[in-house]
Amino acid sequence: MSEKTIVVGGGITGLAAALELDKRGEDFLLLEAGNGPGGVIRTLRQDGYLFERGPNSFPSTSEAIFEIARELGMEEEIIAADPAANTRFLYHKHRLIEIPTGPGPLMKSKLFSLGEKLRVMMEPFIRARRDESPESVAHFFARRFGPAPARTLVDAFISGIYAGDARKIGIRSAFPKLWEMEQQHGSIFKAMKAKRKAGGASPTKMTIHSFRDGLGSLADRVGQRLGERMRCGRRLAELDRSEGGGWKLAVEGPDGLEELSCARLILAAPARVSSLLLNRLSPMAADILADIDHAPIISVHAGFAESELPRLPQAFGFLAPRPSRLRTLGWLFSSRTFAGRAPEGYFALNGFIGGANDRNAITASDDALQHLLMGELSLALGMTKMPAPGFFALSKWDPGLPQYNMGHHRRIEAVTRLLAEHADLALAGNYLEGISIADCIKSGRTAVDRLLAGPVSSMAGGEA
Ligand SMILES: Cc1cc2nc3c(=O)[nH]c(=O)nc-3n(C[C@H](O)[C@H](O)[C@H](O)COP(=O)(O)OP(=O)(O)OC[C@H]3O[C@@H](n4cnc5c(N)ncnc54)[C@H](O)[C@@H]3O)c2cc1C
Repeated sequence: MSEKTIVVGGGITGLAAALELDKRGEDFLLLEAGNGPGGVIRTLRQDGYLFERGPNSFPSTSEAIFEIARELGMEEEIIAADPAANTRFLYHKHRLIEIPTGPGPLMKSKLFSLGEKLRVMMEPFIRARRDESPESVAHFFARRFGPAPARTLVDAFISGIYAGDARKIGIRSAFPKLWEMEQQHGSIFKAMKAKRKAGGASPTKMTIHSFRDGLGSLADRVGQRLGERMRCGRRLAELDRSEGGGWKLAVEGPDGLEELSCARLILAAPARVSSLLLNRLSPMAADILADIDHAPIISVHAGFAESELPRLPQAFGFLAPRPSRLRTLGWLFSSRTFAGRAPEGYFALNGFIGGANDRNAITASDDALQHLLMGELSLALGMTKMPAPGFFALSKWDPGLPQYNMGHHRRIEAVTRLLAEHADLALAGNYLEGISIADCIKSGRTAVDRLLAGPVSSMAGGEA
């Protein structure tokens, strides 16, 4: 009988699951459909620039990433953002306005009127909502802090994190901690005060990090650690029960279709892929997974000579909420944030367009996108004409990011219930308990915990 576990999907979720299995001395194999490890984590190095095609950075609270870096001996390669990155802007009323980071700066900010600021400060006096029915993030913030921050800041942050629509993303599904803060303390401000008293980190004091050679270097290093236990160019096409228990997998590879079997299985592929694979086993769970909305997103990589952008602020970047009427979701000033992102004398900028409110952007031609993005960037930077970028590339992600829309957590609970009888199967990924890299690492590890805690099925037949 083989004890072998197969992990499907070599994005950060599957890589974290495989590392965890390795740490516990388990016998395993990781199958990845693409050419290498990392999934959407990909670093582009060209013409002296370093651009992230997918995720860019992680906050200091991402303990799971620091742990993996330590395990791989990569601690020294983690870099912190320049202090200038603490400054962030919002494109509001045709100009960039600094986002306030606390009550003092909020009172001085030009983002809101005096009435709107006073409404924000009234938050501790707003009664908590005890109703269990789903509520959107926009509604939650409008109710607690007034409509102005919900329309501007919150709308922009939801674009920045989920490429999502704040009117659809659910507060309890996407930000369970905020939801609990209201439930437990009756107010977000009161909960933050209690957390500060207890010695917790203030969200405004968080620093941003990456790796010196980009996030891709983390994925590459995990790939090296896994060695032959990670097989790339292997796509799981079909999944079934083995006769004596365990799993039978039909895998497409360079030499055609191959049959593998294993005792335990972790599906760390995107929700839609897992849905297709589970269709025979649990059509209901498969339907729920297929219905999870995703927002396509385009990441834009542009390089300019510093002399061409004299007005580029010393900042992390800016976000553009929907009322600003830009199609651009925002730009990160990457070389202002991390060292080594652009050649000497040049800026590396990373923009975003698309998302849940602009699904057609993904079908636009590259030329049309470049024209639109450069026009809007010149508006935001207050320039009459934008110089043509010396470097320009696009990374298109479709289906893109899962949307934790209202009721999402209930749908995930239902999938978990429907698959509970299969103790030798675990789902993992960015559609379950958070989309960040750190959430995905936790999801991969949780899948391993769950599988190893369960009974092992006896297996008929071959080795994986
Ligand atoms: C543009 C963008 C910017 C982001 N920015 C940030 C950020 O700054 N910070 C942050 O923390 N997070 C960010 N995120 C979110 C985060 O990067 C992702 O949620 C996370 O990396 C997803 O990892 P995953 O392993 O779950 O999925 P994926 O990376 O999608 O990996 C899934 C893997 O499964 C493989 N696969 C699919 N089907 C099969 C099959 N049948 N058989 C075998 N293999 C299969 C795929 O090839 C892929 O490699 C961003 C995401 C995007 C797209």
